[in-house]
Amino acid sequence: MKIVIIGAGPIGSYAGYLLAKSGHDVELYENHPQVGLPIQCTGILTSDFDEFHLPMDNFLVNTIALIEAYSPINEKVVVNQKDYIVCRKRFDNYLANLAIKEGARVLVNHCFLRKEREQDKDSLVIRDTLNKIDKKISADIIIAADGPLSPTAKAFGFFHQSRKNYYGIQAVVEGQFESKVTKTYFGNEICPGFFAWVVPESSTVARIGLYAEKNSSQYFSAFMEKHGFKAKEMQAGTIPIFSPEQKLQNGNCYVIGDASSYVKATTGGGLIPGMKQAEILADCINRGKKFDREVRTSGLRRKMWLHLLVGRMMSKFSDDDWNRMFKYFNQQKVRKVLEKYTRDNPIPMLFHIMLREPRFLYFVKFLRF
Ligand SMILES: Cc1cc2nc3c(=O)[nH]c(=O)nc-3n(C[C@H](O)[C@H](O)[C@H](O)COP(=O)(O)OP(=O)(O)OC[C@H]3O[C@@H](n4cnc5c(N)ncnc54)[C@H](O)[C@@H]3O)c2cc1C
Repeated sequence: MKIVIIGAGPIGSYAGYLLAKSGHDVELYENHPQVGLPIQCTGILTSDFDEFHLPMDNFLVNTIALIEAYSPINEKVVVNQKDYIVCRKRFDNYLANLAIKEGARVLVNHCFLRKEREQDKDSLVIRDTLNKIDKKISADIIIAADGPLSPTAKAFGFFHQSRKNYYGIQAVVEGQFESKVTKTYFGNEICPGFFAWVVPESSTVARIGLYAEKNSSQYFSAFMEKHGFKAKEMQAGTIPIFSPEQKLQNGNCYVIGDASSYVKATTGGGLIPGMKQAEILADCINRGKKFDREVRTSGLRRKMWLHLLVGRMMSKFSDDDWNRMFKYFNQQKVRKVLEKYTRDNPIPMLFHIMLREPRFLYFVKFLRF
């Protein structure tokens, strides 16, 4: 089967690898001149990444052992959690090379422009931006893995109009850091609804960032100034909010990764959910199963929903609410749960937290729309 994937980000490349390995004729089109650039990501992966059984030596930068979270009144909660920090340039190239080794063709400097319909058949118009030539390409299956604004899902008429995005901003800074500790800072003066992060690459370099619905640059500048950080390199990007209304398939076009809005609404992490989607999609194409249904029955959609609900609650928190939440978190019985489950497993995590500390029910009031 001929499969065209628009976008050679991590999710498109991983899907391309799985499908080429299954014997399909796969082409990936990427509008940038190089895979993996520009970097627009902190590169944190929970230990759930182990489930993909991919050797990490090519792209692993650091392994984190502890997360420290700070409340608005500076109460600290410390949780043992193993996280991986990857170099996104190397990570994306590693996945694209896996696809190439399995026979996929990756064409950079190729930008998807539009869909055209001729004699009952769709073709894709893709511009070779280096040679300034427009090519017409046809395929049995098209996969939109072209990021949060997904021009492909728009062209195929199923990019849901209600979708919204956050804006993330990050700097690489030099200084003195605890190399195995990620620090997160909560509060409405720091980053309303979410948090700012300090993620070490090593004891001398860290990635500092935050994301917000509005004014992220102002909050970011204030955070940098407060901590005396000086940016060595700046990165920024759009983070989609999970949209339950977004369909995953329209005719022979599927949508995955950020293009489908499958990002954890509590943390902005989209790599693991997107890679899980890619695995489900490859299996569906190989076995003729319905993608939407399989994503639902796999539990992935439920996880996204739960992150969305918690994210919606967080977006309404006052500083007093954050302080109250930290007080509840700072009990050994709750911390033990936080240490047992990763952020990619929110369902058992939340269930056991509620069981051990029913006062968390206080926050349910924020679920009123
Ligand atoms: C500041 C920031 C920090 C983040 N930190 C983390 C983190 O720590 N952990 C985590 O899991 N996630 C994080 N994320 C989210 C993560 O970056 C995304 O979820 C991930 O990149 C999604 O991969 P993707 O392949 O779906 O999309 P993308 O990485 O956006 O790739 C899409 C590709 O499609 C290409 N494309 C777009 N339009 C076209 C077109 N018309 N024609 C051809 N190609 C096209 C783009 O150039 C791009 O290469 C962060 C995001 C931001 C902004």
